[in-house]
Amino acid sequence: MGVVEQALSVLVGRPQPLPPALVERFPELAAIRLRTGGLPPRVAGWFLGRRSVSAITLWDTVFAAPDVALDAELLLHELAHVHQFQGSTAFPILYLWESLRRGYHDNLYEARARTFASQRVRDSRFDPPRGGGEV
Ligand SMILES: [Zn+2]
Repeated sequence: MGVVEQALSVLVGRPQPLPPALVERFPELAAIRLRTGGLPPRVAGWFLGRRSVSAITLWDTVFAAPDVALDAELLLHELAHVHQFQGSTAFPILYLWESLRRGYHDNLYEARARTFASQRVRDSRFDPPRGGGEV
């Protein structure tokens, strides 16, 4: 890795493919651009008094902490934030306002993302299995 790439990876992490098994199970995850590492998860963590958050979404890019397990619930949660970004150009401001008013956990957009992810994971248990199977 060259000096420029190294500096960039410190700032904005490195691109990483989504786990193929998860994209097969949840094709909508393909809308996410995934990066690991970089400053965004750490800066978000500082605001919450932590070393880092598991992941933070900025527009269509999910910045995941390097040591986090990329499971369906986490990525679907972040996908909900991608949808929120796509829904309104004012979303970053609205999100910050919600966080100031209610804090991180009770932030309306966080609550909606949690509900979306848990519901989608629950619904997927009733999906017919894809591919393979018996003949
Ligand atoms: Zn969230």
